[in-house]
Amino acid sequence: MSISWKSIPLHHKILGGLIFGALFGALFNVSKYELSIQHLVDGSVQTSEIEQWESVSFIGSDGTMLATFGKEDQLKIIQYFRTLAREKRTPVLMRVAGPTAAEFHQVQAVEKVKTIAVMIKPIGTIFIRLLMFVAIPLVLASLIVGAASLGDIRQVGRLGGKTVLFYLLTTMIAITIGLTLVNLISPGTRLSADAKQKLMMEFQTDMQASIQPPDLLDTVIRIVATNPFNAIAEGEMLQVVFFALMIGISLTMIDSNRSKPVIDFCDGMSETMIKMVGMIMNIAPYGVFALISATVGEFGFDILETLIWYALTLVLGLALHMFFVLGSIVKFISGISFKKFFSGMKEPILVAFTTSSSGATLPVNMKACENNLGVPKKITSFVLPLGATINMDGTSMYQAVAAVFIAQVYGMDLNLAQQLTILLTAVLASIGTAPVPGVGIVMLIIVLRSVNVPEEGIALILGIDRLLDMCRTVPNIVGDATVATIIAKTEGVLEERPAHA
Ligand code: ASP
Repeated sequence: MSISWKSIPLHHKILGGLIFGALFGALFNVSKYELSIQHLVDGSVQTSEIEQWESVSFIGSDGTMLATFGKEDQLKIIQYFRTLAREKRTPVLMRVAGPTAAEFHQVQAVEKVKTIAVMIKPIGTIFIRLLMFVAIPLVLASLIVGAASLGDIRQVGRLGGKTVLFYLLTTMIAITIGLTLVNLISPGTRLSADAKQKLMMEFQTDMQASIQPPDLLDTVIRIVATNPFNAIAEGEMLQVVFFALMIGISLTMIDSNRSKPVIDFCDGMSETMIKMVGMIMNIAPYGVFALISATVGEFGFDILETLIWYALTLVLGLALHMFFVLGSIVKFISGISFKKFFSGMKEPILVAFTTSSSGATLPVNMKACENNLGVPKKITSFVLPLGATINMDGTSMYQAVAAVFIAQVYGMDLNLAQQLTILLTAVLASIGTAPVPGVGIVMLIIVLRSVNVPEEGIALILGIDRLLDMCRTVPNIVGDATVATIIAKTEGVLEERPAHA
């Protein structure tokens, strides 16, 4: 019996892409003992690679010695050069002592040496971009149809209220689980002073460069776009959701001869977009392979060892929330069995894990909820885009766990009132988190500020954030799907679907 590629279910292919990608990335892991240096030779840029140095020194253009690093300091060398470049203190001379002794003049960039595992990342990036490319027109068109089909503003308000209520409830449960575990396991007190110092040194510059303090009030105000077309062009999901809802509601208030063509057009548009998602998903196994391979290839596994207790606490919390809390809600409220729910959600789960983006996963999630879980389109088109932007169970739990972890490392004892403050601010921070990779850690600042935990503590967890972002994005989208099933069930429109293969 021969098995053709076509006959293998897509989620198996994606899972294969994930497993082989991880193996490939591990095999072609980026070395900790190599550096790629771009420098000027006779006015043109040349790239040289060095390995196994005894020391690397930077010398300023006026001949002063700026800094010297040892053989274990690859990351620090890269960070130091970035700081110099940011402060416009380049060009510099880089002197390498050891087996590959050399001098590089007018250094332009210092980076890790890329391996094939990292070089194939563009394939994954194209996959994410294709999904994002569908997301905005899909949300706009289907939400307009969804809101218009609800009939009137009271219906939209009622459904919206119910949806937001469930979103808030599940988010709060997630945070409570996170807080309980982080207090019980106390990962912060398990981190040695040495490890703390090392992490702070390595990631402080990155942190200062990448983290701009957000303004929560501004996030709320910005829900209303001054120019909706700008919002669409910029991919501002929350603004697009608001705009689409307003159009949908207003369509119910005008003469049906006028509204029908608009609704029909949007309906056709959303069908087209869903069809496009189906096409894009055909390349998912390759996209997933490339994304995972690059992440594993680039990832320094030492950091996982250092932060193992923190990572374990969070992953345990995320798993408990997803399988126990959300699984039970789906079973007992929506009446969908655990097996049927999770097997129906395989594709969005794998896409969320590999892309770390609820936004990119949204089209796949909508398709899975409609086709595999029996949630009608008028519910998914309303509940899921809203959820992708405001409901982040995983991110909120992560923000609470990270805040307490950092406090523990700094020797701060947070009392009950402070932990409650974390709960509330983590709800708000997760609402304000954009559904794209790496934003959760930026919004974490709000939570840290609320309880006066030093913001620079973010440097402690920055190195492992990429990995945990993948993990927290999964409950983010499973939470959205859970609420979509509850809303469909309580509205009496949940359709029977056979169990997904
Ligand atoms: N990556 C997450 C998401 O898109 C957001 C975050 O926590 O950074 O859902």
